[in-house]
Amino acid sequence: MRRPLFPENPGTTVRALLQEPLGEGPSAPIRCLTCERRCVVASGETGWCRTRCNREGVLYTLIYGVVSSLSANPIEKKPLYHFYPGSVALTVGSWSCNFACPWCQNWEISKASPSGGEFFSPARFVAETVRWRCQGTSISFNEPTLSLEWALEVFRLARAAGLYNTFVTNGYMTEQALELLAENGLDGMNVDVKGDAEAVREFCKADVEVVWRNLRRARDLGIWVEVTTLVIPGVNDEPAVLRSIGERILQDLGPDTPWHLTRYYPAYRFTAPPTPVRTLEKAREQALSLGLRYVYIGNIPGHPGENTYCPTCSTTVVRRWGLQLLENRLRGGCCPSCGTVIPGVGWGWRG
Ligand code: SF4
Repeated sequence: MRRPLFPENPGTTVRALLQEPLGEGPSAPIRCLTCERRCVVASGETGWCRTRCNREGVLYTLIYGVVSSLSANPIEKKPLYHFYPGSVALTVGSWSCNFACPWCQNWEISKASPSGGEFFSPARFVAETVRWRCQGTSISFNEPTLSLEWALEVFRLARAAGLYNTFVTNGYMTEQALELLAENGLDGMNVDVKGDAEAVREFCKADVEVVWRNLRRARDLGIWVEVTTLVIPGVNDEPAVLRSIGERILQDLGPDTPWHLTRYYPAYRFTAPPTPVRTLEKAREQALSLGLRYVYIGNIPGHPGENTYCPTCSTTVVRRWGLQLLENRLRGGCCPSCGTVIPGVGWGWRG
């Protein structure tokens, strides 16, 4: 049997799918094409996210099938509100991230280098999803783009088993990676727009235009897309900043795109107090006045901003409490009072 290249890694040794050698031979650097950092990885080194390593002129992923966390979550937790409401997704995370956000709410795994965990083959993960009676899969917790190779296999198998597939992501994959995800069965995606260009550059060390490009592309590829902004005092809570994000959603993705304004709590290196509820309420009112139809408030269980209201007659069509779906009153995806179509996927999945 071949000796494993990475004996410390619980996953199998898998070649990174998207890579471009920048020279000949085992000492040549390689460009990683998984995300838009497009790292040039020198021989023996790892890229920015520490999940891809150049070993003797070939780039390998260090997190293929390596699971740091696993739980069955309501789809509302992603959050995806217009996608198979009340269903449960077997949700899996691995290690590390390609962003630098100092407020990360999942920092224990996103700021860690690949460091152990249990190995799940794609077939085992999909079998577990069925065994747990979940309706779909979700790759989340840390940045799922970094699990690209594993995700593609999971999605193919899951789709064949009649399950849906979702990502909770910062949206920083290359277009090539996004297209592969769509081709292999990615159905729904929640993308975090973390702020305006300046905030994303300063705190996440990234270019928010890539995120907008991928949001548009995902929509064109037929992936159901919802947007989240964690509203953080001093980072993106100015009305003008939130207005600019709302305007961009309207312009690039259209008024029917759900936007989740979620409350921040201190985590990792950020100690600012939690976002005032009024800040979120004002931001929601502003976004609705711009013309967005489905604007939600998250991380405040019991807030009326968790519900879906018909944009025509204001009837409450979906009621939620925290992560729970309380009532789906839609009839065939339409408002029961006035018949307005409420956009979404799988509204009536229970049959
Ligand atoms: S996935 Fe992104 S951050 Fe990681 S090595 Fe590749 S290009 Fe760099």
